[in-house]
Amino acid sequence: MNCKGMVYILGAGPGDYGLLTIKAADCISKADVIVYDRLVNASILSLAKKDAEFINVGKMPNHHSVPQDIINKILLDKAMEGKVVARVKGGDPFVFGRGGEEAEVLQKNSIEFEVVPGITSAVAAAAYAGIPVTHRDYCSSLHIITGHEKPGRDVSFIDYEVIAKLEGTLVFLMGMKNLNEICSNLIKFGKAGITPAAVIERGSTIEQRVIIGTLQDISEKVKKSSVKSPAVTVIGNVVNLRERLNWFPKGKLAGKRVIVTRAREQASSLVEEIRKLGGEAVEFPTIRIEEPLDYEHFDRVLGNLKWYKWIVFTSVNGVRAFFKRMRALKIDIRSLWEIRIGAVGEATAIELSAMGLIADFIPADYTTKELLKGLVGLINKGEKVLLPRTDIANKELSEGLKENNIDFEELTVYRTVTEASMKDAVHELLVQSRVDFITFTSSSTVRNFVKLLGNENLGLLSTIKTVCIGPVTSETAKESGLNVSAVADKYTIDGLIVKLVELSEE
Ligand code: SAH
Repeated sequence: MNCKGMVYILGAGPGDYGLLTIKAADCISKADVIVYDRLVNASILSLAKKDAEFINVGKMPNHHSVPQDIINKILLDKAMEGKVVARVKGGDPFVFGRGGEEAEVLQKNSIEFEVVPGITSAVAAAAYAGIPVTHRDYCSSLHIITGHEKPGRDVSFIDYEVIAKLEGTLVFLMGMKNLNEICSNLIKFGKAGITPAAVIERGSTIEQRVIIGTLQDISEKVKKSSVKSPAVTVIGNVVNLRERLNWFPKGKLAGKRVIVTRAREQASSLVEEIRKLGGEAVEFPTIRIEEPLDYEHFDRVLGNLKWYKWIVFTSVNGVRAFFKRMRALKIDIRSLWEIRIGAVGEATAIELSAMGLIADFIPADYTTKELLKGLVGLINKGEKVLLPRTDIANKELSEGLKENNIDFEELTVYRTVTEASMKDAVHELLVQSRVDFITFTSSSTVRNFVKLLGNENLGLLSTIKTVCIGPVTSETAKESGLNVSAVADKYTIDGLIVKLVELSEE
């Protein structure tokens, strides 16, 4: 008997990353398998754990979605393998999301499941258009109706004669194809042609568009503006409130989608800042930090720390890996008391200070050249330098030390490997030309981004602005065949944000 896993049937909200519930985020980050739909915001996927399996059931190569019975089978199979599955749907899973059908299948097969409600587009898209779906002065009910019924149904469940008589707000989902028919039916059965109507396309996202009209003309207006699914239609007097309550979009990066490449382990304050400024940040981890293949060299060094007069850390990850191993081997931090410490970059120094260590030397400029210049002046003859680094560290530093006759030892304290989990989602956004910016904060993210995307796809970046944190990263980007639109004046996240805002204003 297989050990059974479980399934979270969860709603990811209408698109704005911030509308994901805390519980949904928690379930996604726990899941072994993420089975997701077309309408799910790509940024949400980067919450998954590093070895999670992604299954996109919103789209197959022929652009059709995966049939429901196949989705059901995927959920069952994965759960039977003992996996924790997150079934991620747009909006709320039980509002025209077929979550009910999936729950039934799981129940029938005795698979444990939980439902995590999401914020439905029926309410949220309207809210982001400045339309409260209910308001005491305008209506006393809200009706959510499908504009597209189950195919093959003989008799429609939708009785327009009844619906036309409702005084409440009507919200139609999946109604773009049939909008004309929906409006004419409502008018035919007595709803006033002048009833206000709104169509909200991609509500709550940076691509939101709102078309306002009346029952009589909304369908024509929508056609003219070539509004496409997903869109909701709101019919009722509450639509008029938009004139006063329209509040979205907002912020200096409103309407902009920014791909943020980074190492998986790096919490990105850049992402937070972009979101605060109204932009959409899609996190794209291109590299992942892994432990060294073995600890022989590492442990030998830690056992003989007295050999070294200097330790120069060149990255936050280097600091973390070094002290993690010290802790694992129960080596007291006081064994470093005679050793002087160098830190390249502010972030590295901050990480050290969290350990209670104040770097003796931080180069003025975060470049290898400056680092060398400083070190050469400080290190006395015969003093040995330890360089705890990644396996793919560039050779510039070690060669420079060699040229200056400084005795040093390189130590791999962590490995940098390519991370591909978000590759497909990002590729799809690029193919659809739905990206404005891409940011790079290190040379290794550039290299891995290009490697993941493939040289043959670099053409997809031609209309996208590339922004780099500093000259070294920018140089690598150019060497890798990218057009760099801007380099931050201050080599920090704030510096990057300034450039993004500047370019957005152009
Ligand atoms: N479960 C989803 C609805 C799925 S049906 C929910 O609760 O929102 C798919 C329909 O939802 C689309 O055809 C469209 O009408 C609507 N929809 C989903 N996301 C939307 C969005 N961001 N803006 C406007 N409409 C959206």
